[in-house]
Amino acid sequence: MTQPVIIGSERSEAGLPAGIEVLRRGGSALDAVEAAMRRCEDNLADHYVGTGGLPNARGQVELDASVMLGSDQRFGAVGAVRGYPNPISIARAVLERLPQHCLLVGEGAELFAAENGFERAELLTDEARRIWREQLQQTATAEGDAMGRSVEGENTGAVDGDRRYRESALALVRRLAPHEGPWGTINIIALDASGELCVGVSTSGYPFKYPGRVGDSAVPGAGNWCDLRAGGAACTGRGELSMRGGTARTIVDLLARGENPAEACRLALAQAATLPDDYRAELRALALTPDGRHGGAAGQQGSVYAVMTADSTRPELHPRVVL
Ligand code: ASP
Repeated sequence: MTQPVIIGSERSEAGLPAGIEVLRRGGSALDAVEAAMRRCEDNLADHYVGTGGLPNARGQVELDASVMLGSDQRFGAVGAVRGYPNPISIARAVLERLPQHCLLVGEGAELFAAENGFERAELLTDEARRIWREQLQQTATAEGDAMGRSVEGENTGAVDGDRRYRESALALVRRLAPHEGPWGTINIIALDASGELCVGVSTSGYPFKYPGRVGDSAVPGAGNWCDLRAGGAACTGRGELSMRGGTARTIVDLLARGENPAEACRLALAQAATLPDDYRAELRALALTPDGRHGGAAGQQGSVYAVMTADSTRPELHPRVVL
């Protein structure tokens, strides 16, 4: 019997205890990932996922999520979904109930959610609306100056690319909408007692994004990849880079060649870092192998990921290696 383990990116601590509980009872990796991610999506204090997520350039919350299984590499995902608080569960429904497809976006994803009995909800909280407006105002008043400053403790030490991204976001908002009035996707990877691996990713995506923009979290090989022969991997951060670099898939390929999880993540991030990108911001990655080894990498010092095993009483934070 395999020793179950569940790992997650920063802020997954809100959900990992629910996930390990599922695994302790002999539940599946897929159930564990979904249970853990739903807690994160419902955490109103988290502004990068689910309800309370920061909105796009039009002020609308649009969510992306995916799940992938290691044994048969089934993949289910939704992108740019509005009005449904738990996109991870809709992604799972795509995987299980719509085997002829892998990814639904926008209106079609919402139709599928409605047909499958998911409840609609208002996702834009007062707090997220306030942060969205404040960031736009800061960008407007500080255009050109030290706008890389972080939001709510995430993305500290932001670089020129972040500043340029915010400036272009502001230009987009000005163009698209006469409005009235720490970045970070969550990755969760679980290994269950039967030896199955599952990778889940959920996000509200880049704040101020172009309406309809779908990021790496919903794209197989970019933000999510799982293959039981080698391991599972997931990314957070600048999704356009992990889409262009095929970063999650690269990590798993490196695991297959015998790299350890932290080094596989570091090498894949280093590869993505060679791509030219005016909006460059940090990319982070996590990986878990079928024999329970795990690791992570990040572009900044002090980055961590969380781990729980059957014996854990609380999530334990592990350092990520630095690029
Ligand atoms: N990867 C996410 C996206 O590109 C954003 C993030 O993790 O910060 O939508």
